Amino acid sequence: MPSIFSRIVTGEIPCYKIAEDDHYLAFLDINPLAKGHTLVIPKREEDYLFDLTDAEIAGLMVFAKKVARAIEKAIPCSRIGVAVIGLEVPHAHVHLVPINGIYDIDFSKPKLKLSPEEFVEITGNIRTGF
Ligand code: AMP
Repeated sequence: MPSIFSRIVTGEIPCYKIAEDDHYLAFLDINPLAKGHTLVIPKREEDYLFDLTDAEIAGLMVFAKKVARAIEKAIPCSRIGVAVIGLEVPHAHVHLVPINGIYDIDFSKPKLKLSPEEFVEITGNIRTGF
């Protein structure tokens, strides 16, 4: 059974898409810690980040860097925090979270509740800078 992220890759499940290329996809986290919280995934399904090939993990980070630069332009923040958790969705992914302090990337915090209109606006703003 494909992961929920593989179903996003095929378009079966919608997402707020930020960017993609042949191998990687970035989209907004639906339960964000901060406005602009984005997930970057390899399109090829692999549960554990460190089971990706060297080339895949390097490519994922290079792609994430471009996405992070676009988030920085759209969301006021000190920097983009990077986290890998992977306990909920068994498809390797990197969290990119705009942060001003350590508390902004505390995954035990309640998540933001954003309206579809807010997600669309954030998506557009980040895409503009990609
Ligand atoms: P983790 O596997 O612990 O890194 O967490 C998975 C992350 O994926 C969580 O932050 C979820 O909010 C996020 N997530 C789960 N399903 C979706 C979805 N359909 N679209 C966007 N984000 C999702």
